[in-house]
Amino acid sequence: MLKKKLSLKNASFNTSAITYRITPIDPPAHRYHVCVNIPEPLSTGQLLELPAWIPGSYLIRDFAQQIVEISASCKGKEVPLVKQSKHSWLAAPCAGPLQVEYQVYAWDISIRGAYLDEQRGFFNGSSVFLSIKDQTQKTCLVEICRPQGARYQDWRIATALREHHAQRYDFGTYEATDYDELIDHPVEMGRFVLAKFNASGTVHDIAITGTIPNLDLPRLTLDLEKICTQQIKLFEPHRHKAPINRYVFLLHAIDDGYGGLEHRASSALLCSRAHLPIKGNSTINRAGYRQLLGLFSHEYFHTWHIKRIKPAVFVPYDLQRENYTRLLWLFEGFTSYYDNLMLLRSGVIDLPEYLSLLSENITEVMRSPGRFKQTLSESSFDAWIKYYRPNENSPNATVSYYSKGALLALALDLTIRHASHQRRSLDDIMRILWQKFGRDFYHGHPHGIAEDQVIALFNEATGLQLDAWLERALESTHDLPLAELLQKTGFTLKPIRSTSPPGLGVRLREDSHTVRLGCVYEDSPAQRAGLSAGDILIAMDGLRIKPNQMNTLLNRYQVGDKVELHVFRRDELCVFQLQLGEPELERYAITSTSSGKRHVIGVWPAAINASLAKPK
Ligand code: ZN
Repeated sequence: MLKKKLSLKNASFNTSAITYRITPIDPPAHRYHVCVNIPEPLSTGQLLELPAWIPGSYLIRDFAQQIVEISASCKGKEVPLVKQSKHSWLAAPCAGPLQVEYQVYAWDISIRGAYLDEQRGFFNGSSVFLSIKDQTQKTCLVEICRPQGARYQDWRIATALREHHAQRYDFGTYEATDYDELIDHPVEMGRFVLAKFNASGTVHDIAITGTIPNLDLPRLTLDLEKICTQQIKLFEPHRHKAPINRYVFLLHAIDDGYGGLEHRASSALLCSRAHLPIKGNSTINRAGYRQLLGLFSHEYFHTWHIKRIKPAVFVPYDLQRENYTRLLWLFEGFTSYYDNLMLLRSGVIDLPEYLSLLSENITEVMRSPGRFKQTLSESSFDAWIKYYRPNENSPNATVSYYSKGALLALALDLTIRHASHQRRSLDDIMRILWQKFGRDFYHGHPHGIAEDQVIALFNEATGLQLDAWLERALESTHDLPLAELLQKTGFTLKPIRSTSPPGLGVRLREDSHTVRLGCVYEDSPAQRAGLSAGDILIAMDGLRIKPNQMNTLLNRYQVGDKVELHVFRRDELCVFQLQLGEPELERYAITSTSSGKRHVIGVWPAAINASLAKPK
């Protein structure tokens, strides 16, 4: 263990810890300065690498692109540094502490990279801290320095990194057990609103940045407390103990944005300002607030499921290249099922709201023809080149392991509950995964779930033989038997088409001036007529196609009518003859079949029954 209360200047040379100093040196120019001190560089030369991707977001992002002016020295003398690959450098052998200095350009508003301006700073370690080859198991110290200037004197820090020589929320030195932990605690700096709550004995912080007049912080805090408590109870029904000592939500609110990234004891979230609750206004943007709570719930659920229960191929991560797994349906799909379910169980939304969210999920999957092309297993494996790199043909060629994965979780939950006469559920699967893989992940010999181990684990957790069921759900493109399963539970699932006009079979992309084809569905009237994604629609039967008025035009026609379309493809005017098809699927709706059946629901047990008992 390291002695506490060392100043970094001494610590750099007196411990075997790798020490980093990060300074926002030029906020208006978005530049951090980073200095790494390596007490014992390898005698053959020291390789330094920056991750090519960040866990939780499966795309090669090449964070090294933002590194500028890198140099190395030893005892004041320059050490040659030679680039080895797009994200690695080799420092020549030297006898003594090696220091590497560089700047990082930080202008990424997402939760995946690094950001700095005069309002705030944010970084993930994977964007700013070089890893020291063969020394990644060593303790890391990080001194986070305050930017110079009067305007930054009231800036504070929010992070789940442990304080080493720093007051909580203040600049100073923080520590991590190893490099893996170092880059798993994002850091927010600036002026933020801070709230705290206690869930099952664990302190949770919410640090919110962005300009948010009249934010109803007590309401958000109370709702989050209910959601977190519910999740702790799911995984530890007897002990009611969270897997962390402290948890930090870092939320940044902007005019329009959405995203979240999970970490072992924190999450970084981005939301639209309008989705936050406002003081004294209980009704404002209910759908937006619900979506925001779902995002919090989703990232928090990952604290167990992906940050501790993991695919074996992520133990450890190889951050230099893609790490392939066929199990993202389990980690992202199940998390997407539980995120909204936890809102229901904790009482922050009611049953009609939950069913409406479920209907949206079903509609999204059923609208995409790609579900007949790609299995859930394939979708997981190809996340790196498909889910994370969508193009105009994605709806035709891919299925989301989030949306369909969540429906698989629902179908499996209903199947288990039905087959076990309500004695078992998906919760039992989550708990067995937690006990076998998650609980001791950071306290022993971490191991993950092997790709071919899942079915046996599910069978063990439920006492059922789920092999054939899972094989079909994961390795084929058949639709899940949701209508049938919901029917058994007292609900009817129906597609709604009635109010829609005849369809072209396209997804439109409209702005204030143009109506463009975003996607042309496979085997649709538009595709048969020769239309393509990117085409700009000009006129139908001689009448101008105006933004947001396509349905008004189409309402004049019947299924089977022929229309003439004028279209710009790039800058060339084209004419297409198109025969209108069936109305587009408007949405799916889930309704309760009869009040008499409600008592047998049992599906989403206590919460549903409680919700049904008190009519809204
Ligand atoms: Zn997720």
